[in-house]
Amino acid sequence: MRVVVIGGGVAGLACAHALLRVGIRPTVIEPGDARPEPWKGLLLFEEGLVRLASLGLEARVVARGQRLERIDTFRPDGEAVGAVLLDRAVGVLQGHLIEELTQALPAGIVRRGVRALELLRDARGDAHAVRCSDGSEVVGDLFVACDGARSRLRAQVAPERHAGEVRLHEIVGHVDDPDLAAELGPRLVKLEHPAGGLAFGVVPCGAGRLVWYVQLDAERHRSDVHTANERARLVHRLVGDFRHPVPRLLGRTDFEHSRLWHTTDLDALPRLHAANVALAGDAAHVLLPFTGQGAGAALADAEELARALHRALRDGGATTDPTRHRAQIAAALDDYTRARLPSVRRMVASGRTLRDRFLARRPHGPDSEIPIGR
Ligand SMILES: Cc1cc2nc3c(=O)[nH]c(=O)nc-3n(C[C@H](O)[C@H](O)[C@H](O)COP(=O)(O)OP(=O)(O)OC[C@H]3O[C@@H](n4cnc5c(N)ncnc54)[C@H](O)[C@@H]3O)c2cc1C
Repeated sequence: MRVVVIGGGVAGLACAHALLRVGIRPTVIEPGDARPEPWKGLLLFEEGLVRLASLGLEARVVARGQRLERIDTFRPDGEAVGAVLLDRAVGVLQGHLIEELTQALPAGIVRRGVRALELLRDARGDAHAVRCSDGSEVVGDLFVACDGARSRLRAQVAPERHAGEVRLHEIVGHVDDPDLAAELGPRLVKLEHPAGGLAFGVVPCGAGRLVWYVQLDAERHRSDVHTANERARLVHRLVGDFRHPVPRLLGRTDFEHSRLWHTTDLDALPRLHAANVALAGDAAHVLLPFTGQGAGAALADAEELARALHRALRDGGATTDPTRHRAQIAAALDDYTRARLPSVRRMVASGRTLRDRFLARRPHGPDSEIPIGR
């Protein structure tokens, strides 16, 4: 079976690992060069870590990051308002996760520097090749679109669905501060404004690297900033008077390396495949940042897709008959959608619930302190 994976982010690389484990050697097409993005810190919770463990990669990823045991929430003036204990969680740079996933793959799986342009289809409507930016055509029996939240290939499966921008914006920065990282220990610290719509968080990501973020309601706080100076001014204006460790983090941040991120929202798709094209990762579901589940969900997609293919090929037996082969792929993709959709629907809904709570003007209370979705 020839599987072509389009996109070599967390989802695409995890698909490659999961497919190799069931005896399928895929090709991954990725335009980027695998350079770590220092500003993107990820929280991986149980779901993601369990999936990494089944790919044999949990220990490597945890070693690059920082185990987290709790999330402590404060008011801006430092009054503690809540704590959540975490069973199994880690903070890690997305770039380090991608490095580990890449380094553990055999050579020749990932074709870098190449962008997928379009799927070429036969008379029946099945994709048979992907046309790439270097002029090549990569043929396959199954295509897995892992091209991210603004996926172009999503339209091949759900043409009517587009991810829309939401009023939640996030500014992200990072510092290397081993002393502060030691002081924070295995804790994600969050400071939430009691009026809602504004929060600051800091995630230890290992080796003294701290990734901080400001979540803001863009309707209440103008955030049409473009330059490093504008981002710095906005962040200082919004959270400059929040308590320790905010001033220290802001004081040490090089805002040239900060980012403003417009979050996107997308209803759960009715299905995660059409014909012989499957979606995985953010291409399949865009989760609001509150869930902290995007990467974990991408890892889960990869494992379930490989499992469904393995099952269909095993049950259908080896065949050279194209009709039976197509039926096996169709059965596998039905299985995949069935396995993943309930959890995708749950995560989309929980992200929106957490967004609504974040935006709501409400006093802190004991039910408002769980800043992650399940
Ligand atoms: C600021 C921020 C904070 C986040 N925090 C968390 C968190 O705490 N926990 C968590 O679990 N998730 C978090 N996420 C979400 C997480 O980063 C994503 O869910 C995860 O990276 C999804 O991986 P992906 O591979 O599906 O998509 P991406 O990481 O977007 O990868 C898509 C890949 O496809 C490639 N591509 C695009 N177009 C093409 C094409 N035409 N041809 C070939 N390749 C193509 C891109 O180059 C890219 O490498 C966060 C995201 C952001 C932005």
